[in-house]
Amino acid sequence: MALNFFNTLTRSVEEFAPLDPAGKKVGMYCCGPTIHDSAHIGNFRTFVFADLVRRYLEFRGYTVRHVMNITDVEDKIIARVRAAGVSLKEYTGKYEAAFFADLQALGCQPPHDSPHATEFIPEIIALISALVVKGLAYQAPDGSVYFSIEKYRGCGCVYGQLLKLNLDELRVGERVRSDEYAKESVSDFALWKARVPEDGAVFWPSPWGEGRPGWHIECSAMSMKLLGPSFDLHLGGEDLVFPHHEDEIAQSEGAGWQAPGGRFVKHWMHGAHLLVEGKKMSKTLGNFFVLKDLTGQGFTGREIRYLLLSAHYRETFNFTLDGLRGARTALARIDECLAKLRELAAGATAAAAAGDLPAAFQAALDEDLNVAGAWGAVFEWVRETNRRLAEQRFTPAEAAAALAAWQVVDAVLGVGAAPAGEEAPAEIVALFEQRQAARKARDFAAADAVRNELKARGWVIEDTPKGARLKKV
Ligand code: AMP
Ligand code: ZN
Repeated sequence: MALNFFNTLTRSVEEFAPLDPAGKKVGMYCCGPTIHDSAHIGNFRTFVFADLVRRYLEFRGYTVRHVMNITDVEDKIIARVRAAGVSLKEYTGKYEAAFFADLQALGCQPPHDSPHATEFIPEIIALISALVVKGLAYQAPDGSVYFSIEKYRGCGCVYGQLLKLNLDELRVGERVRSDEYAKESVSDFALWKARVPEDGAVFWPSPWGEGRPGWHIECSAMSMKLLGPSFDLHLGGEDLVFPHHEDEIAQSEGAGWQAPGGRFVKHWMHGAHLLVEGKKMSKTLGNFFVLKDLTGQGFTGREIRYLLLSAHYRETFNFTLDGLRGARTALARIDECLAKLRELAAGATAAAAAGDLPAAFQAALDEDLNVAGAWGAVFEWVRETNRRLAEQRFTPAEAAAALAAWQVVDAVLGVGAAPAGEEAPAEIVALFEQRQAARKARDFAAADAVRNELKARGWVIEDTPKGARLKKV
């Protein structure tokens, strides 16, 4: 059966087929976090969605290279760095570490590459230079370099591939320096922002003078460097469709690095927003929860992951604590069934076939990641398994086979099994590992800071003759 995904570019569900002639390798880029603050669980809905796409492609036999950039220089970050009076790296470092700890707590596979915008300045400058040479970018009197939408369209390229835009209203040469603007104000956007006093120490030399990159160019440069000028999948939250992704297409295809007739990206996938009382969860509206708010109330990463994976990725849904309690109940049903299977299987090898769970699960997810159908298959399997267990119709080998079937689907769902007893949740383990790494690097200040963070969350590190271990206070 074919794997079908909705493609924002064609506005239709179409068969997913990678560019790789062997049909095996998939390049996938998901716009990562802007590390100016802690990410909220709305942001994580998008990253859990990307994790689902990656895991499902792997389940379907593809070898995925998953790239997620880290935006560590942009307008908001610079404003915060200035307010905090610290260096850019010092400021963003702690939010980046927290982001990855949360990502792990939510059961997400770490991306294969997490490039930082600040480490790709030469690639960014090379891309802007290519656009200048082609006459698609120009330096304005303010010293910044802008992308010319008029020139781009003049070459026969389409601006407005992901979103229909009314370009008749376009006022030629009107410019926008800010990275975020509405579709009503389509304008030439900044590729390189000339240094202004408010930037403080955040600037790099370039052929156009000191300055820093715009946000959109960062993603074009990093994705093309790591995945090539044409790659398979580009993901992000739905708010990135315009202008961010539209601008990425314009810059990347404008440079013309693709083979003749080739596109920057074949499939675009966008995740719908997580809402709170009908409104987008966002820092601006103040209606957000960070992971710590929820784990502080006793919810686990896997419960939050389950909730984030309970709705179709193209549908918005409201986040509620009741929803999280529902996630807990649903997972408890799975855990209970697995515990009974484990008890019965105890050491037996899976002699029987894995049953039809993986097939039913795949049939659902093949249809544009129909998670409701996939969970439906899981809970149908739980019901049937419980019935057979109650009727003592399972041999240990069959119980082992049922567990193996669960492992296959859980490699995609990533909700794992309940932590036993006093076992530390994943985010605590992540902090513990962070502290061990800091000690190894002889960064004792960082190690102590993590130890204090663990203490605040109710866990202590005991140094024993067998090594350090975690203990609940
Ligand atoms: P940012 O750190 O603001 O660049 O956002 C990181 C990712 O989170 C982007 O892909 C956004 O589209 C996504 N995002 C932001 N708010 C939400 C939300 N409420 N629900 C789902 N995704 C979101
Ligand atoms: Zn991006």
